[in-house]
Amino acid sequence: MKPAPFRYIVAHSIEEALAAKAEHGEEGRFLAGGQSLVPAMNFRLVQPAVLIDLNPISELAGIERADGVLRIGAMTRYRALERDAIVWRDLPLITHALPEIAHPQIRNRGTIGGNLANADPASELPAIVRALGGRLRARSAISERTIKAADFFVGALTTALAADEMLSAIELPVLPARSGTAFLEMSRRRGDFALAGVAAVVTLDAEEICRNARLAYCGLGDRPIHATAAAQSLIGERLSEAAFAEAARLAQDAVDPQGSVHASKGYQRHLAGVLTRRALRTATERARHGH
Ligand SMILES: Cc1cc2nc3c(=O)[nH]c(=O)nc-3n(C[C@H](O)[C@H](O)[C@H](O)COP(=O)(O)OP(=O)(O)OC[C@H]3O[C@@H](n4cnc5c(N)ncnc54)[C@H](O)[C@@H]3O)c2cc1C
Repeated sequence: MKPAPFRYIVAHSIEEALAAKAEHGEEGRFLAGGQSLVPAMNFRLVQPAVLIDLNPISELAGIERADGVLRIGAMTRYRALERDAIVWRDLPLITHALPEIAHPQIRNRGTIGGNLANADPASELPAIVRALGGRLRARSAISERTIKAADFFVGALTTALAADEMLSAIELPVLPARSGTAFLEMSRRRGDFALAGVAAVVTLDAEEICRNARLAYCGLGDRPIHATAAAQSLIGERLSEAAFAEAARLAQDAVDPQGSVHASKGYQRHLAGVLTRRALRTATERARHGH
């Protein structure tokens, strides 16, 4: 299939892009890596009247650390994130998870901003940003605001961004010392979207008591799901197989699998339990011994 006719605007600055979005609203779409948008246009699932190409805007890409926060520009490609030394040092959860996303060719083009704005419930990064307590910077021609990851994803392929807003950057707080993370997923083939996936974060104190924990899931609801009760069950505990099993049981209650031709709801719920136990085991080991 070929896309329906559309007008193509090349934006050379954030201001130009935002002015075009203010003019065209829902009729205009930003073009980032094009790895979700272009296939959807070719299938005529979406038919934007106008594409606003963000690719020439270099200030939208890049990774920097300031005041204990990693700030990642929306146009930063998966490939750059995957290879970035600061990301590996400060938030290895991202580095561990990126090879699970699609294929190298897609990671060369796809961007973190395009991924999060697309809000695919099976996608890895929304769950990761949720587990890391991320904040998303939204800009319009007249205003700028910060949206917590917990409020950003409002449904399948739907975010809290207004029709005139751009996702400009993602802010991720660096985890404290003695934190460990793990990302695990099950998909039918390498590079496919996850049937179920989990991002786990644990922080221990000097006595190895769990002081903080977060568990966020992809593929198990219409948006990334945070299993709050499961995560809280770990806090104050010396982490053990029994604690992991209890958290896994609570996580299975928290997720809301939709089921599909590839996996029944029951199988997805089962996966949530298995992946939770395994991810917590790995995250705890990393909290004790590093990365
Ligand atoms: C074969 C294949 C396999 C894939 N497998 C996976 C997978 O396993 N996991 C996974 O997560 N993804 C997967 N993807 C999707 C891929 O990760 C996409 O690259 C990503 O979802 C979208 O990023 P993009 O930069 O390509 O955005 P685009 O496709 O350019 O844009 C996506 C949407 O976001 C909007 N948008 C883009 N940037 C912004 C912005 N800054 N502000 C506001 N709105 C914006 C666009 O208008 C569009 O609606 C796969 C894709 C393919 C083709």
